This record gives sequence, C-alpha cells and structure tokens, in this order.
Amino acid sequence: MAYEKTLQVLMVSMPLQGHINPMLNLAKRLISNGVHVTIATTEDARHRMKQNLQNTEVQFEFFSDGLALDFDRSNTEALVNSLKLQGSKNFSTLLTNLTKVHNYSCVIINPFVPFAIDVIADHGIPCALLWIQASALYSIYYRYYNNIDYFPNLEDPNDKVHLPSLPVLDVRDLPSLMLPSSPRHFYNLLNDLFKSIDKVKTVLGTSFYEIEEDIVKSMFFITPIYPIGPLVSPFLLGEKETNNFKLDILSAEDSCIEWLDNKTPSSVIYVSFGSITVLSQKQMNNFASALMNSKKSFLWVIRSHGSNNSNSPDLPLEFLEETKGRGLVVKWSPQEKVLMHPAIACFISHCGWNSTIETLVTGVPVICYPDWTDQRTNAVLIENMFQNGVNLRCDEDRVASTEEIERCIRGVMEGPSALKIKKRAIEIKESARKSLQEGGTSHQNLDKFINDLKATNI
Ligand code: UDP
Repeated sequence: MAYEKTLQVLMVSMPLQGHINPMLNLAKRLISNGVHVTIATTEDARHRMKQNLQNTEVQFEFFSDGLALDFDRSNTEALVNSLKLQGSKNFSTLLTNLTKVHNYSCVIINPFVPFAIDVIADHGIPCALLWIQASALYSIYYRYYNNIDYFPNLEDPNDKVHLPSLPVLDVRDLPSLMLPSSPRHFYNLLNDLFKSIDKVKTVLGTSFYEIEEDIVKSMFFITPIYPIGPLVSPFLLGEKETNNFKLDILSAEDSCIEWLDNKTPSSVIYVSFGSITVLSQKQMNNFASALMNSKKSFLWVIRSHGSNNSNSPDLPLEFLEETKGRGLVVKWSPQEKVLMHPAIACFISHCGWNSTIETLVTGVPVICYPDWTDQRTNAVLIENMFQNGVNLRCDEDRVASTEEIERCIRGVMEGPSALKIKKRAIEIKESARKSLQEGGTSHQNLDKFINDLKATNI
C-alpha cells in the first residue's frame, strides 16, 4: 500500500553475473529517477549470492526454476527446459502475489527469460526488454529469426554473411547460439524470444547510439531499439554512487588494487575471460608464455586458480616463480576498479558484452579472445567498427599461438598502432559519457522511457 503513488517496475533476470549487472545498473538509474524497483530471479540465487539482500534499495523476490536447489545448473539444457515448463508457472504465481501489493507500470525482462513474456501478458502488464548485448546482435538475431535478410548455409563457418550496417561477417563470427553447432535448447530459447517479440512494447539497449548509429538507424523502421547505455555503474563514469549496492556471485580480491597502486601508469596487462569461459590447457600455456616473454606486468583472473579441480587448466609450474613481482593471479577481481586504475594499459578479454562496455567507458584498449554466444561478433565490432582493440587470430581449434598473443600485446602497447588504438579508445570514452549527460542520446532515451511509464504508455 505504501507504494501506491510511486512508479513501480519489476525486473526479471537469470542470476548470472553478466545478466544481473546490467539489470542492476538500470535499476539504479530508475531508482534515482524515483522509481520503485523489484528484481525477480530464481530461488537458487538466494543461496549463492554473497550479499545480504535485506535493507537494499532494490527489493528482491525469488521463484523456483523447477529444479532442486542442489541440482547442477551447468546442465543448461535441463535448466532452460525446466524454466520454460515449471519456472514459468512459478513466476506466474509470484507475479500474481506481487501484484496484490504492487501496481507495476511495466515488467522489464532480459533476453534470456522469454518464458516470462506470456506470463506478463496474461497479467495485463506491459513488458519491456533490456537487450543486454550490442544492438548489432539484436539486429542479427531479429533479422535471422524473422527471416528478414538472406543468411547463407550456417553449417559452413567460412561462408560470408552480408547484413545492413555491419562489416561482412564469417558465419563463425555470428552469435554462436544461432549456429547449428550450438545446443538446440539455446537456439530454441532465442527463437522463443524473437517469435514473441511483438508482445514486447519497448526494447532498451545497454549500448549507446554513437558507436552503433547505423545499426540503430537500420532497425528503426523494423523494430526500434533505444540504447540507454553504456549501462554501467556510476562508479565507472566517475560519478558518486548514491546506491553502491552490487550483487557479486563471486567474492572479489580487492587486494589487487593495492598491488596496482605500486605500478607505473599504463604498464599492466589485465587478463580476464569473465564468469563462464574456461581456457583449454594449451591456450592457458600460450597466454602464460606470451605474458612471460612480454616482460610486462599483468593481473590475471583465473577462477579455478589453486582449486585442484582436474577439469580446470593449470598454470605452468615455473610461471608464477618466473613472473614474481610483475604478475598477480587472482580468482576474481573487482573489475570495475581495475579498469578505472591508471596502471592498466590494456585488457585481454573474452569480449563478454559487459566487459566490452566497461572498456568502452574507461578507454582501455582490448585484445580479443572471444569464446561463444555474442563474443565473436563483439570481437569483430571491437576490431572493425569501434577500432579500440585487436582480435587474436586463432587456428582451427580456436587456439591463439604464443607469437600471435605477443604480436597483439605489442600492437596495443607499443608504437604507432598502440597510439592510434588508445586515441580511439579515449574518443569513445568521451562520447560514451556525453551520451549519458543531460541532452545526450542515452539520457533522452531513458527520459522518454520513464515518461512513457508515467503515462502508462510504454
Ligand atoms: N567481472 C568481475 N570480476 C572479474 C571478472 C568479471 O567483476 O574478475 C565482472 C565484469 O566487470 C562484468 C561481468 O563480471 O560486469 C562479466 O560479464 P561479461 O558480460 O563480460 O561476461 P560473462 O561473465 O557473462 O561471460
């Protein structure tokens, strides 16, 4: 009842770090505009999250994904299927209960919970989508799943794909979830989303107009996407955080910031492949050799470091000894603080979209080692469109050689190519910030969304 007069919004997300972070950043922006925000995620998250979820400005609610709490959710097929069949029912029950006390103007989902669309429609509430990847990916998926453009045979990774406003892509650079080599449940998940997309009233993007102008324009008369990004925490924009609440699924080792404090400006290579990617042993050896040979300082995030897990790759025995003093390995970093640190020179990244926008907004050049989902497309965008980084060339088994890694490190840290990339990275950083300032493109798009909410007109 206390919420009666406040604008209220519910958000729905899977409890994955890369999904929760952009939802939370949008939640913070909505809260600072006076909106009351509830985030609904699955019950297993309640048990995994490190934070106390009481007394935060965001209210959390949970529904069961239909699997036992101790079920191994790396079995993504079982998870996706259970969410569709059972999770949707549980979400429906939760939404029915929540609407007894809340008057939601809108439910904002992200792309990976398509089962929520029909439930939200059944409750008569407008649905918005926060597209948590580049707008280019929205354009590719939409065109593919709705048969708008010609796509070649996706069985051949070398075939070429010509799409409006994008560089010519090899099939292997398309988002992996739509390729025949991807498990069907991922393909079906996105198919479910794009077949129901007409029920989504507004699509917001975490990107910003200036870096994807032609793509955003090309979608305008098909199905508009309104970028409101870069959707990052206020900290990354150098702003004071009024609500610095974060949801970390892993605990960050903050001591690495003190270690960075003792390094000279633009001298350290930051290496991280996000929360899911696992390197092959061969690839880990090649990164280790390249870092050893480079003689440069580095901070490397290896989630399995010291875990003795036989499925995880190990660092070569001599590596830590030989790089003592100039190298630090952590299990999880406070990545935002790392990227804001003046000691960081470049980022060897898997090009997850969150990490990518975090580099765009901090002006940190990137060396791309993409793995799956949108990451390969992002790497093409980084090298060819944004031009703030280089893409590691890999062999047929997706292994980048030691020499290739060393070449890319030199390319972004030394000589004219490094200066060119850094200049471009700084330009992007400035335009990213401008787009979020009053009158900027993202600021205007978010304002429009909030005004539409107020008019219950999204
Ligand atoms: N991240 C972090 N510490 C790390 C590695 C990653 O805080 O050591 C954060 C990073 O800032 C980003 C998110 O985790 O916000 C990873 O999302 P991304 O989309 O880049 O990759 P994913 O983990 O989904 O593959």
